[in-house]
Amino acid sequence: MSDRLTSAHDRWVDRDAAVVWHGFTQMSTYGANRPVIVDWAEGRELVDVDGRRYLDAISSLWVTTLGHRVPELDEALRLQIDRVAHSTMLGNGNTTTVRLAEALAPRVPVSEPHFLFASDGAAAVEQALKIAFQYWTNQGVTTRTRFLALGNAYHGDTIGSLSVGADGFGTDIFDPLRFQPLRAPGYDDPGWADTAVALIAAHADELAAVVVEPLVQGAAGMLVTDPASVERVADACREHGVLLVVDEVATGFGRTGTLFASEQCRIRPDVLCIGKGLTGGYLPMAATVASRRVYEAFLGPDLSEFTLYHGHSFSGNALAAAVALRHLELFDELEVLANVRDRARQLGDALDGVARHPAVGEIRRRGLMVGVELAPPTDGLRWGRRVCAAAVERGVLLRPLGDVVVIMPILTSTPDEIDRIVRVLGEAIDEVCCP
Ligand SMILES: *Cc1c(COP(=O)(O)O)cnc(C)c1O
Repeated sequence: MSDRLTSAHDRWVDRDAAVVWHGFTQMSTYGANRPVIVDWAEGRELVDVDGRRYLDAISSLWVTTLGHRVPELDEALRLQIDRVAHSTMLGNGNTTTVRLAEALAPRVPVSEPHFLFASDGAAAVEQALKIAFQYWTNQGVTTRTRFLALGNAYHGDTIGSLSVGADGFGTDIFDPLRFQPLRAPGYDDPGWADTAVALIAAHADELAAVVVEPLVQGAAGMLVTDPASVERVADACREHGVLLVVDEVATGFGRTGTLFASEQCRIRPDVLCIGKGLTGGYLPMAATVASRRVYEAFLGPDLSEFTLYHGHSFSGNALAAAVALRHLELFDELEVLANVRDRARQLGDALDGVARHPAVGEIRRRGLMVGVELAPPTDGLRWGRRVCAAAVERGVLLRPLGDVVVIMPILTSTPDEIDRIVRVLGEAIDEVCCP
């Protein structure tokens, strides 16, 4: 790499750090951790300011589904720009957003759904919590004011979503602001569903809803469970009249091999949260999807207290809706789910070798959501961060969660790309863990 090219990176990092505050990032060491400064992208590769290419093996933090600069999605965006970029959905409508909701309705695992759009997953969860709470008060039930959530859960960073999210690193500071849900164990406890079912039975009268991430607790380091356990918890909710809120912000749009993980669990949530992959990773859009039963509890006279007094400025943004609509069509046209299942099988086989590496503790996986848990002999070795840095040096963009290396390939990845990710990961582990 020539000096001129090296300095392009350094110059951009300096400009960046001077004015931008990055999420989940200690800014005092931001530059030292050699961030990738993306200038443009092509297919499944990101290109930095020095022209270096990186295979995007984390789907740009789990949002990109079909790749970057997908011609059909670009075209959908261009066409919508010539109609309208945004108009409010508060008390008014927009043809593109209506078309999107119509197209999503038969595809989501929710009965006779209505869609309340927002811009981020956290907002979708926040809306779900308020809807679940008000669902009861609208019917004169004032005792169902609590939520049951799981250990290791992650539902976003707003105060409400942080409250149903698990305790621990980074959240404890906000304890004075967080409300306290009932807490069942997370997916690392094989008895999690038994405990959850027992808690639902014992506290049914005070529970507004149960909130779960189906099959995979992503941000916890890709902790996984089996579909039957999720189904049992859903059954307990139905038996005790407690609403089931399912957060598919991460698992939705094909990551686990079906369009939604709820399908594998054979559950029909009362409220579903979607985000991340909804627009293929193009634009910020999320939605809270309510079943007919939930939705109808909010019907009443105009200007009455039955109304959900909630709505974000950019709810149902037309540009995002246009891309999301075309994205949904492409899932069928490109047979994306078939590729996810084939690549997931390939990735699982290829990772068998990595799993036997002495530096690797466990590999957890559902579809194309994978966590490779490293097993450092002592604390403080920063293996997760260093292995990912070594992979980035080799042109594969990875990002860890602690000592778990997350692999979240773009859903249209080719067999060669999957092989390359696994090969580079193996090399990176060798370099960092067995020097
Ligand atoms: C990422 C994520 C969220 C939060 O979504 P944002 O768009 O980052 O606010 C919520 N729930 C789950 C399961 C997630 O993975």
